[in-house]
Order: sequence, then structure tokens, then C-alpha cells
Amino acid sequence: MNRFINFAAGPAMLPTVVLERAQKEFLNWQDHGYSIVEANHRGPEFGELLSQVEAKTRDALAIPQNYRVLYLLAPARAHFAAIPLNLTQDGQTADYIITGLWSSLAAGEAEKYTQVERHENFNWNFNQDAAYVYYTDNETVNGFLIDTPDTHGVPRVVDMTSSLLTRPIDVNQYGLIFAGVQKNIAPSGLSIVIVRDDLLGRAREITPSVLDYTLQAEHHSLLNTSNNFSIYMTGLMLDWVQEQGGLTAIHARNQQKAARLYEFIDSSDFYQNQVSPPHRSILNVIFNLKDDAYNEAFLQQAKQAGMIGLKGHRKVGGMRASIYNAITLDDVDRLISHMREFAQSI
Ligand SMILES: *Cc1c(COP(=O)(O)O)cnc(C)c1O
Repeated sequence: MNRFINFAAGPAMLPTVVLERAQKEFLNWQDHGYSIVEANHRGPEFGELLSQVEAKTRDALAIPQNYRVLYLLAPARAHFAAIPLNLTQDGQTADYIITGLWSSLAAGEAEKYTQVERHENFNWNFNQDAAYVYYTDNETVNGFLIDTPDTHGVPRVVDMTSSLLTRPIDVNQYGLIFAGVQKNIAPSGLSIVIVRDDLLGRAREITPSVLDYTLQAEHHSLLNTSNNFSIYMTGLMLDWVQEQGGLTAIHARNQQKAARLYEFIDSSDFYQNQVSPPHRSILNVIFNLKDDAYNEAFLQQAKQAGMIGLKGHRKVGGMRASIYNAITLDDVDRLISHMREFAQSI
């Protein structure tokens, strides 16, 4: 079977064994006599699956009992609006740490609903009466990583769309975590929200019901028809994570992959990455060729060598290798070989 190594940022590559499992029971899901995409979202069979997926999510991320886990048919960007609507009262301020495109877009959306204070440098001075401090731990477009900021007790709200399930996290540090699943977990059309109980119950009246976290928690995420297939795929991916040794093992491998790629980039005078080392993403590795004039040839030859998805985001140009869980160390080595050969051929 000829499958490309897909370095795209999202929708992203999923492990072949996960896709094969889904394929094997696509027509007849768990011998129920119908496909998962035909399953009744209110039937007992799907209810059982949803409970299992939640149990596996809780297990993988060690989610404490005082957090709800929601599986919503919404893109990550829906939460850019849902978060201020659910968590702020009229006139209340929310603090946004801006480290790249996604946090900037989130702040822009939140401004429609609440007063936003943007923090663009690292001398953070958060409002002690802010509803929350918002940030994006891994900025997918510019490959920028930040550590958990000290917010002096103000709840942290974090967009983990490109980092959820790539490392162990201490959920207690967050008021709310959300992630679109298409970067690293499952097909697009689903987002996971992990929210602390005490943040529920304050949604503004104008909040759309399907984005009201309290209402969705009461309905076990089933106020509306769910994305059954993506929830099912999330379950398969969680099984795979478990088989790989859990998030600690996954994280160690992810760090190793990133270290190898950055080391090569730093040792080369043909490629470069501008991000300061402590902020370098271990999931989205940005690099530029010595001259943009070589970009097309680089991408074309990468494709001939079996690799796609390397073109950088249209906002930043250059190249981006997204090396999520499904990308192996061997895949990264193949990319490095291609980069080395290409540079030598110039
Ligand atoms: C991709 C991405 C988004 C946007 O996801 P959609 O599901 O398309 O809305 C938001 N935040 C981050 C960090 C992302 O990587």
C-alpha cells in the first residue's frame, strides 16, 4: 500500500493501524449490523461507545472528577465565541496572551462579546478580576510553544487543538481546555472540551444552546446530533495511545523527533528556524529554505520521495513539518534525508 507520509498541520495523518481498524468494521460496527455512521446517537449502542470514549479520555489525561468532558460537533473556532459567552458576565474583562495567529483570532472573536485585554510580550500583568486568562499552548501556524503561565488564581483557558494527547498534562491547572480533534486525534468535525464544574452555570442568556457548555454537560453532549464517526475514531486513537505506552511514552518520542529535526536545521546553513529554542514547538516545526525560490522544487521532490503536507501556512510562508503522534522517528529521518539531499543538490 502506498501512503504518503503526511506532514500537514490538519487534517493530519492518523496511524495506519487505526484507519485499518475503522475500515474493518466500517460496514458492520461491532457486529451490530450497521455502520457507526448510521448509528442512532440516542441508541444504547452509541451511548455505550460515548461512555467508553469518555472513560478512555479521562484515563489518558488523568482528568479529575470535578471536570466535565464534552464532545461537541463544533470547530475549534466556535469556542472562540463560546468561551466569552459561557465564562464572562457583561462588561467583564478577559485576558488574552497573544503568541500567534490562533490566539490573535480568538481575542478578536472574544471582543465581540466582552472586554479583552491583549498581552503580547512576556511581562504579563493580568487583571486579578479578569474572568479568565486565555492562551494557546502550541501555536500551530508559527510553531510557537509557551509554558503554563502564572495567573495568580485566575482560571486558565487554553486552546490545545494541536497539542491535546501529545503529552501528559495536569488538568487541575486549567479551568477549561478545548481542542478541535483534526490535528492529532480524529477526523474534523468534533471538538473536546474539558471544563471545571465551578465554571459552569454562568452562560449568558444569548449563548447559542449548542455552545452552552452547561446545557451540553446536562445532555451528555447530545443536545444535538453528535459526530458519531469522529467520536468513534477518537476512541480508536485513545486505544492506540494506550498501546504505545500512554502519553508519557508518546511525549518522549515526540520530543525525540523534534530534537532530531531542529538539530539538523540548526546544523545546516541552507535551512533555518527563527523561533528561540525555549519556544520551539515540538509538534509544528517551521523552517525556511535559504531562498524562497527553491520552495516549489523542494515540495515537488518531497512528493516524489513520498512526503506531502510540508508547505507552510499561507500567513507565514516557508515550510512546516507537523510531526504529530502518527509521524514516526523513521518518518522524520526520511524528511531529514530529503532535506539534506535537496540542499546538496543546489
Ligand atoms: C487548527 C487550529 C484551530 C482552528 O481549528 P478549526 O477546527 O478549523 O476551527 C484553532 N486553534 C488552533 C491552535 C489550531 O491549531
